[in-house]
Amino acid sequence: MEITLAKSAGFCFGVKRAVKLAQQTALQGKPVEMLGDIVHNEAVVKEIKKTGIVKVNHLSDGTGKTLLIRAHGTGKATITKARELGYRIIDATCPKVKEIHSIARDMEQKGYRLIIIGDKDHDEVRGIIGQIHSPAIVIENPDSISPDKIKNLQRAAVVVQSTQSLENVKAILEALRPQIKDLMFFNTICKATRDRQKEIKTLPLQNDVMIIIGSKTSANTKRLYEISKSLNQRSYWIESTADLQKEWFKDARHVGITAGASTPEESIQCIVSYLKQLSTD
Ligand code: SF4
Repeated sequence: MEITLAKSAGFCFGVKRAVKLAQQTALQGKPVEMLGDIVHNEAVVKEIKKTGIVKVNHLSDGTGKTLLIRAHGTGKATITKARELGYRIIDATCPKVKEIHSIARDMEQKGYRLIIIGDKDHDEVRGIIGQIHSPAIVIENPDSISPDKIKNLQRAAVVVQSTQSLENVKAILEALRPQIKDLMFFNTICKATRDRQKEIKTLPLQNDVMIIIGSKTSANTKRLYEISKSLNQRSYWIESTADLQKEWFKDARHVGITAGASTPEESIQCIVSYLKQLSTD
């Protein structure tokens, strides 16, 4: 079995940065809390917890504590509340997500209604919504456009969750354009996502089996899996070697592997080694 690992597999720049910031903050020896998961990968969160950082779901008395803001960012109200409670803030929000925040605030100020193309329950989308005062409209796919919400819209600005697929974005824009006269579009899909999605359009066609590694909570891994599956039925989304099933590889000569932006290198290498071993059995 020949194994091809996607060049773009694994940690993106924003995740690397967030993990490094977490490690550096832990070294300061003071109590550190992270609000939710710093990145969407259980193995990474587990490693970070080992450094003494405590994961919390709610803010409490922050006196003497540091609060680590996750790579996907958070709303302005959370930061304000944390400061009021006495926390020192270390912001690990990816700079690419911060760019989306800044566009959202700017366009609101200019009088545009914000439309976010993304998953409504994702932390990144909630963080973008939390940058502005007026309610944003979240659209997940062309079928979820609510006519009531857009029928009287004269001016709207569209931003995109950084890990969305371009095809979905194009389809939504096509549906919106005839309905909104003044529609501004900002393609905020990040480069790391674009590179990954470019590779996933060819790898599944060149391989008999595709393995996509990443947490089930990772939006960008889900997207990679969906694209791969649409091109190659023998695509499988796994979190670790425990999920691999030998029968998937029956008669397979070429296996392609890719991984989400928050999948650590160790998990990827572990799976590559397992498959190499399988091919020599
Ligand atoms: S996927 Fe893109 S936006 Fe998200 S953390 Fe990585 S580089 Fe930043």
